[in-house]
Amino acid sequence: MKSQDIRKQFLQFFADRGHLIVPSAPIVTKDDPTLMFNNSGMAQFKEYFLGNATPKSKRIADTQKCLRVSGKHNDLEDVGFDTYHHTMFEMLGNWSFGDYFKKEAINWAWELLTEVYKVPKDIIYVSVFEGSPEENVPFDQEAYDIWKELIDEDRIILGNKKDNFWEMGDQGPCGPCSEIHVDIRSADEKALISGKSLVNNDHPQVVEIWNNVFMEFNRKADRSLEKLPAQHVDTGMGFERLCMVLQGVQSNYDTDVFTPLIEKIESLTGKKYTIKAANDEEEKINIAIRVVADHVRAVAFAIADGQLPSNGGAGYVIRRILRRAIRYGFTFLDIKEPFINELVGVLAAQMGEFFPEIKSQQSLVTNVIREEEASFLRTLDQGLQLLDNVIAQTQGNEVSGAKAFELYDTFGFPEDLTALILKEKGLDYNKEEFDFELLKQKTRSRAASEVAKDDWVILVEGNTESFVGYDQLENEVKIT
Ligand code: ATP
Ligand code: MG
Ligand code: MG
Ligand code: MG
Repeated sequence: MKSQDIRKQFLQFFADRGHLIVPSAPIVTKDDPTLMFNNSGMAQFKEYFLGNATPKSKRIADTQKCLRVSGKHNDLEDVGFDTYHHTMFEMLGNWSFGDYFKKEAINWAWELLTEVYKVPKDIIYVSVFEGSPEENVPFDQEAYDIWKELIDEDRIILGNKKDNFWEMGDQGPCGPCSEIHVDIRSADEKALISGKSLVNNDHPQVVEIWNNVFMEFNRKADRSLEKLPAQHVDTGMGFERLCMVLQGVQSNYDTDVFTPLIEKIESLTGKKYTIKAANDEEEKINIAIRVVADHVRAVAFAIADGQLPSNGGAGYVIRRILRRAIRYGFTFLDIKEPFINELVGVLAAQMGEFFPEIKSQQSLVTNVIREEEASFLRTLDQGLQLLDNVIAQTQGNEVSGAKAFELYDTFGFPEDLTALILKEKGLDYNKEEFDFELLKQKTRSRAASEVAKDDWVILVEGNTESFVGYDQLENEVKIT
């Protein structure tokens, strides 16, 4: 089944069950000063959960363009290295705002997966919240009993607070989650080790596809829980992972969401993407191709939604993503000229029907990416010359770590590139010294920032509670 049809079927299934289908919110949040990018389907609906606004319908479904590159959800460093985390991905979701609850949500999820999409039942595992007495949260017996009617009890996993309990922050709506995982390994591999033990264990073929959150409680200031007067359902299913399962492949990059991009990268670079790399050299090329195919989507959709690369805030995050792709192309695909911009046409042809913005903005997106590529490639070029000078001044075969760090810190010249170039010349650099300088720099910037921990931050002043945001910016916390 083509990805286009997989998306349509999801939306049709929930439309048939009384859901209003709404468009994706832009990838860049417009009116939330505390959230840089939409990182989940529910972000655009948060005011409904807080009771500050009324939804057009009590049942809504959509596919949301998500970006997980900052704040609480930051998957950037995994992208390219694994085959199921992306920077930009689509999250299919259905919501109940004070309408249906666990019974309908779980039964529909099961019906859609096993009857419409025909996912074999014996590759599915589900998880249910085990409870946490010290946090006053009970075991989710209700979800367990609903699942028990549908799936062999041996396939129900009890999950901990980290994976199976969702809360906005220290206070406010919260509740248990029930996740659906699939085991798409070969029979031989399954015989060696059970899929159950691999759930939530970073196995590339035993992956979480769908999270069902049941907003059941309100957490009060004294940490006690009360039942919410109106209970909500918030679900999110990774579209690319679903396509992997339904298309019978072992990696998101082997689905038709990615293959047209990968084929174009192959033809532009002359490098070959291999489904299973035979050696380190091939694996490096694979990683680089995955990075480029992934990142061009994030950058193109962000620009189409109005976020140009720049030197600060969200624009800087976008610039860094693009530079990461350029760097992988430069280092591992041997491409010294702009080429990523040429993928925009492929993306527009493939995604334009459902997301018309990528088609209507195609030439702007292409031009912006081409300019960014050209300018960063110049920086890389200058960095190479500087590195040559450093090498010329070096005695012995080890370059100073502080010098390598200066190249990185002041000129944006990446550490792995320095390492690679030095290696080619039979040289090395002092890694300990480099790491020490990096640590010093991180300590400096950490002092000026805080790490986002929660989805939601509620400021309590006296007796008044005011919602201050859904997430915190990467390097600046804005609580006003
Ligand atoms: P994981 O444990 O795999 O990192 P998650 O628990 O962080 O996923 P949720 O926040 O529950 O993910 O999001 C709902 C769904 O979105 C997940 O079940 C998964 O299918 C999908 N998803 C999450 N992060 C990514 C990502 N970086 N790329 C692609 N799909 C993702
Ligand atoms: Mg995650
Ligand atoms: Mg998870
Ligand atoms: Mg999850």
